[in-house]
Amino acid sequence: MGLTLEQYKERARVVSIISEDGKFRGSIIKNTQVAREAQERHSLPAIPALLLARVLSSASLLAVFLNGEERVIVDAIGEGPVSKVSAEAIQVGEVRGFCEYSEIVNTFDKSRFDLALGHGIFRVMRILYNEPDPIIGIVKLVAGDIETDLNYYFAKSEQVFSVALLDSETDTDGKIVNSCGLVLQALPGAEDKDKYLVSEHINKLGKLTSIITPQTDLIEALRRILPWDFKVLKNDRVDFFCRCSKENFVSKLLAMSYHDIVEMRDLGQNELVCRYCNAKYYLTDDDFVNILTQIKAKNN
Ligand SMILES: [Zn+2]
Repeated sequence: MGLTLEQYKERARVVSIISEDGKFRGSIIKNTQVAREAQERHSLPAIPALLLARVLSSASLLAVFLNGEERVIVDAIGEGPVSKVSAEAIQVGEVRGFCEYSEIVNTFDKSRFDLALGHGIFRVMRILYNEPDPIIGIVKLVAGDIETDLNYYFAKSEQVFSVALLDSETDTDGKIVNSCGLVLQALPGAEDKDKYLVSEHINKLGKLTSIITPQTDLIEALRRILPWDFKVLKNDRVDFFCRCSKENFVSKLLAMSYHDIVEMRDLGQNELVCRYCNAKYYLTDDDFVNILTQIKAKNN
């Protein structure tokens, strides 16, 4: 099935750049399609969808600078009606995510979506090839709008100067209609005055959704946004993509006890749901027999 020009233009994309003078690098994303797919897969009301859009953007913007299948996971965990919003991205443009919330969130005014997480933490985790353990940075949630929290995380946890703009919007039905973001990071040659100029410039931009729409060409947008010339490093599609499979779930079940699996079978708990993408897999009687046989063989 082909795409119309309109649909082609609205494809989610992420672009990474380096400034002509080599002092900064950056990434910019428009991911309305991805944020909307996440909303539809998880049947999210407006506030969880707005927060998830921003977390999906954060993960994709940070993943751009990784290699191969290195991963970044961005989480916000709160004590409010939204208890968790999480996204995981890899450099090749795959991202997935979910949001856990209680229905009370629907009583909140969506313009104050930033109140929905309440007190909590904001976490960035990188899983890199040459590191045995994930690299984890955790800060407290300072605003709950994800944008301020990501900037606070940059200021507290990252050694390099970085600034982020994140934005997401819904229509009157609570459906995501725009999601976009931008991250700029200083490179070793950048001096304090260069960083100050970038901060000032970014602070003056205002809402990113007034600059970027789903149809916007990101490179043209960057030409308008950035105070210096740049070279494009990558210009990739971004897709909501989950690598879950029934086989994957079954291999996790093999780590459970024989007794637990028997109990699952006897209670008719044969549905496996992926929390990242909401895909559902069903275990057949044969699957249960196979799993139990393998667990038994392992324990002997
Ligand atoms: Zn999945």
